[in-house]
Amino acid sequence: MQTTSKEAPTKAGDKFLPLDIAVVGAGLGGLAAAYLLGRAGHRVTVFEAASTITDVGAGIQLSPNVTRLLARWGLGEKVKELAFVPQTLSLRRYKNGEVVGWRKWGEIMERDYGAPYCHIHRADIHNILFEHAKPYINFRPSSTVVSVDPSVPSLTLASGEIIRTQVVIGADGVHSRIRSILVGKPDSATPTGDAAYRTLIPTSLMLKDPELKELVNEGANCWMGPKRHVVGYCVRRKELYNLVLIHPCKGTNETTREVDCDVMRKDFEGFEPRVQKLLSLVDSALVWSLMDRKPLDSWVHKDSKVCLLGDACHPMLPYRAQGAAMAIEDAAVLGNLLSRVTQRNQVPALLQAYQDLRLPRATLAQDESRMNQLTFHLEDGPDQERRDNSMRAAMEVALK
Ligand code: FAD
Repeated sequence: MQTTSKEAPTKAGDKFLPLDIAVVGAGLGGLAAAYLLGRAGHRVTVFEAASTITDVGAGIQLSPNVTRLLARWGLGEKVKELAFVPQTLSLRRYKNGEVVGWRKWGEIMERDYGAPYCHIHRADIHNILFEHAKPYINFRPSSTVVSVDPSVPSLTLASGEIIRTQVVIGADGVHSRIRSILVGKPDSATPTGDAAYRTLIPTSLMLKDPELKELVNEGANCWMGPKRHVVGYCVRRKELYNLVLIHPCKGTNETTREVDCDVMRKDFEGFEPRVQKLLSLVDSALVWSLMDRKPLDSWVHKDSKVCLLGDACHPMLPYRAQGAAMAIEDAAVLGNLLSRVTQRNQVPALLQAYQDLRLPRATLAQDESRMNQLTFHLEDGPDQERRDNSMRAAMEVALK
C-alpha cells in the first residue's frame, strides 16, 4: 500500500520496519489507530466482535482537539459535510430554562484552537473513519478475541483460531478483556449510578413550534437539575436533534436497551416546558448504564508487546464529551510513534513513550468528567446558587 507516514520521517538512512499489528475493537479509537498505523505501512488486522461496523449511539460532540487531528489526517472536509457547527453553548436552569452560563463557540473555536467544534452522528464519524482505514487494513468482523498471550504475543478468537502477531492494541471498550489480561486479574467496570437516555428528534417536527425552533437555531443546550441533566444539539446538518438525558440509574443493568418513553418522560417531569415538549416528540429511545473504572498505573503489559487504548484504559463519564476525543488522541500519539520504527527492539520504548505522553492527560479528563457530575447535578440550594452565580459572572465577562 503506502510506506512511511508523511508526519513521521525516520532518521536519514534508517529504513522503516513494517510490523504485524493486531487491533482489538473497531470503535472510534481502534479504527483511528488502525488507519494511522496502516497508512504508515504496518500490516494491520482489526478484530471486531460485531458482524458489521455499526454504531447504535446517537450524536457525539467533537471538540477542536479532535477535529484538528481529523483535518490533519485528511478527514476534515467529510466531517464538515456531515456535521453541525454550533454557535453557542447555553447552560440552563432546569426549572425555567434561564441561561446561567453561556459560551460563544462557532468561529471563536476556529480562531482560538484552529479547528471547529462539531456535532456529528456517531454512525457518520464511525463510517468516515472506517472508509479511510479500509484500504490500509485487514478487517475481521465477527471475530471476538477471547484471550491474549502477551509473551508471544498471540490472540485466540472465539472460533478457536490462534493468531500470532508482533504488537496487540486493546481498543475493546469499557468492558475490555485485554485490560484484564494486562492487569493480571478479572477487572470489571463499575456502575457510576447514572444512566443516559439517548434519542434523536427530526428537526422538521421542532420547526413547527416557535419555542422549539429557537433550540434548533441556537447551539448546544445543557439543562442542569438535581441528580440529572439534559444535553441537546443538532446533528446531520441540522436534520436531527440529539437528546441525551442523564438520570440516576435504578439498577446496575449494563445492557443498552429500548426504554419505555413514558418512564423517561416521568424522570424529567420537573424540567422546563421546552424539555417536556421535546420529550413529547420522542417515540423511541435507548438507555445506557454509564460505567467507570479507576485510572490504571500502566497501559502497557510488562512484556511490552500489548497496550491499551481508549475506553479500554480510560473510560469516563460523558460529562466533558472527551471519551472518544481521548481515544482518538491516543491513536494519534501511538500512530505517530510507531510510524518511526526501524528496529523491532524499539517497540518497548515506543509503547512506554505512548503511555507516558497519554496517561496523565487521559486521567485528568477522567477526573474532570467526574467533577462535572457533581457540578451539573447539584440539588437546589446554596451550592447550586453559588454555582449559578459563578457561571453568571463568567458569562458577563464573555458577553463584554
Ligand atoms: P468503543 O467505542 O466501545 O469500541 C470498542 C469496540 O471493541 C466495539 O466495536 C466492540 O464491539 C469491540 N469489542 C469489544 N470486545 C471485543 C472483543 N473481545 N473482541 C473483538 N472486539 C471487541 N465522547 C466524546 O468524545 N464526545 C461525546 O460527545 C461523547 N458523548 C457520549 C455520550 C454518551 C451517552 C456515552 C455513553 C459516551 C459518550 N462519549 C463521548 C464517549 C465515547 O462514546 C467513548 O469514549 C468512545 O466511543 C470510546 O471509543 P473506543 O474505541 O475506546 O471504544
